[in-house]
Amino acid sequence: MKYKPKLMKKIDVIIIGGGPIGIACGIEAKKRNLSYLILEKGCIVNSLYNYPQGMTFFSTSDKLEIDDVPFISNNAKPIKSEALEYYRRISDSKNLNIHLFEEVTAIKNNSEAFQIETSKSSYTAKNIIIATGFYDIPNKINIPGEQLPNVSHYYKDPHFYAHQKVIIVGASNSAVDAALEIYRKGGDVTMVIREKGIGERVKYWVRPDIINRINEGDIKAYYNSEIKEIKEGEVIINALEKTINIENDYVLALTGYKPNFDFLQKVGIEISNDEKRLPQYNNDTMETNVKGMYLAGVVCGGMETHKWFIENSRIHAPLIMQDIKLKK
Ligand SMILES: Cc1cc2nc3c(=O)[nH]c(=O)nc-3n(C[C@H](O)[C@H](O)[C@H](O)COP(=O)(O)OP(=O)(O)OC[C@H]3O[C@@H](n4cnc5c(N)ncnc54)[C@H](O)[C@@H]3O)c2cc1C
Repeated sequence: MKYKPKLMKKIDVIIIGGGPIGIACGIEAKKRNLSYLILEKGCIVNSLYNYPQGMTFFSTSDKLEIDDVPFISNNAKPIKSEALEYYRRISDSKNLNIHLFEEVTAIKNNSEAFQIETSKSSYTAKNIIIATGFYDIPNKINIPGEQLPNVSHYYKDPHFYAHQKVIIVGASNSAVDAALEIYRKGGDVTMVIREKGIGERVKYWVRPDIINRINEGDIKAYYNSEIKEIKEGEVIINALEKTINIENDYVLALTGYKPNFDFLQKVGIEISNDEKRLPQYNNDTMETNVKGMYLAGVVCGGMETHKWFIENSRIHAPLIMQDIKLKK
C-alpha cells in the first residue's frame, strides 16, 4: 500500500538511482544548497551490491572517488567489498537525503513541474536526474531454453559451480572473470564465443591468463560459435557451421546488460534509431530533450554500456548542478 505523499513542497531536483553517480549528484546538489532527494529502488549502490562477490575493479581507487573524498584501498585495484564500504560511508558522512527500496514507477510532466510516482509515495520536483545505470536488464540471447532454471544472466560466486559442467556465453570481462574463477574452484568450463577471440576490452592483466588457460585446454572455448538451444542436461551450439551437443549442468549467459529504454522513452527522452540507441542530451549540461530532465552516469551510453563508467562519468554531477543552479 502507498504511503501518503510526504513531501508536498516542490523539490529542486529528484535524483533517480542511488549508484555512485546518483550519490555524486546528491553531494553536488547539497553543496549548492539545492533541495534534493535520491530515490533508489534497492540498497545503496544496488548495482555494485549485485556484482560478482569476488570482483576487482579495473580502475584504481582514486579514479572511483567522489567529491575528492579519499578512497583508501589495500589493493592495487579495489575490490567490491571496499567499494560498498566507501560509497556507504560517503552517503552517511554527507548525510545524504536518500530513500532506499523506493522505486520510481512513473513521471508526469505538467510544464510547471514533474510529478514523480514511486512504489511508496509521490513527489513534485522542478528537475529530474535519471541515473539508473544499466545492470537491471540483461541482453537476452533469445533461444529456446533460455528460461530454464539452470540458466542465469548474472554470476555471483564460483563455489556453487564446483564439479559442475558450466557453459559460459560471451568473452567480455564478466564472462572471462567467471570462467577463470569457476575453473579455479573445480568447475568444468566451456566458453561459447561469437567472435574469433577473447574480447579486446578484457582487462590487460587478465587477458594472458584466460588465453593461456584456453591454449592449455584447462578451459574449453568454441570461437565463431553460437549457442542454439538449451535443454535439460545438454546445450546445442553451432561451431564453425557444425552442430555440437555438449553435456551441461549450468549456463551463464554473460552477454551484457542494457539501460531501461522503455522507461526513458515513456518519460519523453528521444532515443536514436540505430543500434547504439543513444539517448538525446546536451554534452555540456546533460539536459535531455525534455526541459529540466537530465541524464547522468552509465545510462547516457545507450547500448554502448562500456562508454561511460564511474571514472569518466563522475563529472556529470557538477555539470548538471551548475546548470540547475544557474536556472534557479
Ligand atoms: C563487473 C563490473 C566491473 C566494473 N568495474 C569498473 C571499474 O573498475 N571502474 C569504473 O569506473 N567502472 C566500473 N564498472 C562500471 C560501473 O560499475 C558503472 O559504470 C557504475 O555503476 C555506473 O554508476 P551509475 O550510478 O551510473 O549506475 P549504477 O551503479 O548502475 O546505479 C544505478 C542505480 O539506479 C537504481 N535504479 C534503477 N532503476 C530505478 C528506478 N526506477 N527507481 C529507483 N532506482 C532505480 C539501481 O538500483 C541502481 O542502484 C564496472 C561494472 C561491472 C559490471
